[in-house]
Amino acid sequence: MKFVYDDSISSYDFGPGHPFRGDRFPSFIRFLKERGEPFELVGYVGEPPTIEDLRAVHDEEYLNFLRVRSQTGHGMVSLDTPAFKGMWEAALSMVYSSMSAVRLALKERGAAGFGGAHHAGVNYGGGFCLLNDIAIAIRWALRNGVGSAAIFDHDAHHGNGTMDIFYDDDTVLYVSIHQDPTTIYPGVGFARQVGRGRGEGYTVNIPLPPGAGPSSYEMAFEELVRPIVESFAPKLLIAHGGSDPHFLDPLTQLGLDLRGLWKLGRWASSLPADHRVELLISGYNEHVRNWGWLGIVRGFASLDMGFDPEEIEGRAPNDDDYVIRRARLAIDDAKSVLSKYWNLS
Ligand SMILES: [Zn+2]
Repeated sequence: MKFVYDDSISSYDFGPGHPFRGDRFPSFIRFLKERGEPFELVGYVGEPPTIEDLRAVHDEEYLNFLRVRSQTGHGMVSLDTPAFKGMWEAALSMVYSSMSAVRLALKERGAAGFGGAHHAGVNYGGGFCLLNDIAIAIRWALRNGVGSAAIFDHDAHHGNGTMDIFYDDDTVLYVSIHQDPTTIYPGVGFARQVGRGRGEGYTVNIPLPPGAGPSSYEMAFEELVRPIVESFAPKLLIAHGGSDPHFLDPLTQLGLDLRGLWKLGRWASSLPADHRVELLISGYNEHVRNWGWLGIVRGFASLDMGFDPEEIEGRAPNDDDYVIRRARLAIDDAKSVLSKYWNLS
C-alpha cells in the first residue's frame, strides 16, 4: 500500500514542551524504513490546496486570522493550541497530505498518510488542530464527482470540528467512537447529537466510558459502525485517528491495547467503500506511538500485526467487567437513539 509523505509536514510543531511536535511524522517514516515495512512512500499528489478548497470549509475571517498569526507566531489559537510561526504553511501541508491520500485512493482503492485535524471547525481551531484537512479533502472529492463519503473517526477524542462542519449534510456520514465527552476534551460527542435538518441521522456518536478496551470497542464497531456504514454505502471512506486510545496514552483514559489499534485498521479496511483512506495523527506516549500507528496501517493494509505487542506495551489491562457493563449501557443508549434512522438489530 502507498503511504503519502512530504517532509514539509514536520513543520507542524507547537514547540518545546507541547505534546504535539513535528518530529513525530519523520520519526514514523524512519521507523517504517528501518523495519523494512511494505509501504511504498510517495510524495504529495496533484496540485496544492487552493484558497477555494479551504473556503469550501472555513470562513474567510478565520483563514485570515490563521494567516496573520502565522507571520509572527504570537498569541493563541485556543487555550491548548498556541500559534506558531509558519503554522499556515504547516496546516496547508497537512491539508495537502490528506487530499493526496484521497487522490491516490480514488485511483487505487486504498491509501494511507498523515492527517485528521478533526477539532478545527468552520471558524475555530483547537485541540492542536488548525485547518480541518478531512473536511477539505472530502469537499474536494465531492466537487470532483465522488457521490458520498463516510468518516470513521477512531481517535480517542471526539471530532467536534468535523461534526459541526457536516451537521446539516446528508452526503457525508460522520461516525465516531470516542471517550465519554463528560470526562475529556472537547466535551461534546453525545449519542443524542445526531445531526440537523437534512443531516439528521448522519452524525453517529458512540461515547465509551474511561477504561473501555478491546471488547467494548468490538461491540461499538459491530453493533453500530458496521451496520450503519454498510447501509449508507459510501463511495469514499476516510478513517482516521492514532494511538491515543491506547491504555498508556497520557492525555486519555481509554483501555485499548496495540492489538486493538491494529483491529481498528482491519475494521476500517473491511467497511464497504470503493475508495478508502486511513490517516494518522494522534498519540502522546512516545514509546507506544510508532507501534500503534504501525498497527493501524498494517491492519488497514490487511497485514498481520508483524510484531509482538507484549514486548512493547507489557501486559495490557484486562477488560474490566464493570467497564464492559458501562460500555454496554452506552452502546444500548446510542442504539436506541440511532435506530430511528438506521436498521439496527
Ligand atoms: Zn485525540
